[in-house]
Amino acid sequence: MAEPTPAAIVGSGLCIGCGSCGADAGRDMAWDRNGLRAPVGALDMAGEAFARTCPFSPQARDEDAIAAARFPTAPVVDPRIGRFESAHVGHVAEGDFRSGGSSGGLVSWVANELLRTGAIDGVAHVVPTDGADGVFFRYAISRSAEDVARGARSRYFPVDLAAVIREIRATPGRYAIVGVPCFIKAINLLRAEDAVLAERVTHLLGLFCGHMKSAAFVDSFAWQLGALPEQVRAVEYRRKDAGRPANWYTAQLELADGSVRDRDWWHLADGDWGAGFFQASACNWCDDVVAETADIAFGDAWVEPYASDGRGTNVAIVRSPELRDMIADGVRGGRLSLEAVDADFIADTQAAGLRQRREGLAYRLTWPRSGITPRKRVAPGRGDLGWRRRLIYRARYAISRDSHCMARLARRTGQSWLYVRWAAMMLGLYQGLAYHRGWAGRLFDWLERRR
Ligand SMILES: Cc1cc2nc3c(=O)[nH]c(=O)nc-3n(C[C@H](O)[C@H](O)[C@H](O)COP(=O)(O)OP(=O)(O)OC[C@H]3O[C@@H](n4cnc5c(N)ncnc54)[C@H](O)[C@@H]3O)c2cc1C
Repeated sequence: MAEPTPAAIVGSGLCIGCGSCGADAGRDMAWDRNGLRAPVGALDMAGEAFARTCPFSPQARDEDAIAAARFPTAPVVDPRIGRFESAHVGHVAEGDFRSGGSSGGLVSWVANELLRTGAIDGVAHVVPTDGADGVFFRYAISRSAEDVARGARSRYFPVDLAAVIREIRATPGRYAIVGVPCFIKAINLLRAEDAVLAERVTHLLGLFCGHMKSAAFVDSFAWQLGALPEQVRAVEYRRKDAGRPANWYTAQLELADGSVRDRDWWHLADGDWGAGFFQASACNWCDDVVAETADIAFGDAWVEPYASDGRGTNVAIVRSPELRDMIADGVRGGRLSLEAVDADFIADTQAAGLRQRREGLAYRLTWPRSGITPRKRVAPGRGDLGWRRRLIYRARYAISRDSHCMARLARRTGQSWLYVRWAAMMLGLYQGLAYHRGWAGRLFDWLERRR
């Protein structure tokens, strides 16, 4: 097999834009035409560490190998959620962490606790920018409780690690990094090659991940909320409301004139997470939902009664003994309100994501493709997938691919309705297949009965 280069990974639709290669001399990160991050500069060099450090390189160690080396004594090894010491559901009880966070505020609490106890000097996470040039979020290193709080909440916006990797290499200290699973894998792979990063990046805080979206999702919000994308200054993907279920997402835009527009996701043409609008191509080839290589990983408790609690509730998987003890200490002191749960509980909260990354991935791996073939822990195969489920995976893949083109077309022609009407039609089709809803649902149900 030819050694993968950054150009080959990008050309094969496998680059997530994490920035681990973009931090190297001769390379940087930039926006691609779809509103995703991608490396630029020297992209054709083979024979370097890249093949071992790119998280989507088939020659890199996989999540099982990384986690086995990092957490050899973990008492539980589960094929869905990886190795772990303990697992929990609940929220932060002290301070404003819960109200300020997207779920139960646990990520910010752990980051803050690591800073407070002197375990780290800084935490690299995602913070809002001033919104100039359509860039609303970026990675930055926070060194105080105030800055950690400013960076709270989930940002479904493309970001990359290149600048913070450079800053960590240049500035002695101990750091934690917060990231989605592939970013955490990238840092683990980099640490194995780079002694400075290995010494300085001491803690990895993972976020569960359904998929990464492109920056065009914000354009789409603007189009549907009657604004121009150029007018947007700030974005809130999930405004919290204690009086409504946590999974009733509300998107909010702040415009240049100070006005605010908002809409619930389910009233948006592309507001169904499962349909895959604006998903990065690499996410089709990922098999890690729950940051299996992070010291601790956090998600939303998407099961009842927690999903209906608008104040937000976390699930957390603790993989390192050090963080297991920190969490246990927080619970003992009444600062955290957490209950112990098992692997089944956590997997149930991520049932859709796991289906897409196991059954769905196995199916996608049977499709002919060009370029580099991803090496996954899931074997290619259709199993006993019925035609309807196969169509769901096909529809999701097509929506994720074509939403980028349709948004580009709408932007270029100035005709936002082209995208919005197409999205509404595709959503109808997807929801008909997946939830038996609307005209498409009746059509597919009829077809199913005739078979
Ligand atoms: C792209 C994406 C997809 C996700 N998909 C799922 C999913 O399918 N299922 C699920 O249960 N949970 C998912 N999550 C995680 C979930 O949205 C919450 O982030 C998580 O439950 C932690 O909530 P919290 O209240 O503890 O965090 P908070 O206290 O609100 O802190 C969140 C922390 O994450 C950092 N952060 C925000 N966005 C990013 C980003 N893009 N990259 C790196 N760091 C970031 C913030 O800077 C902050 O430090 C996803 C998150 C992201 C960013």
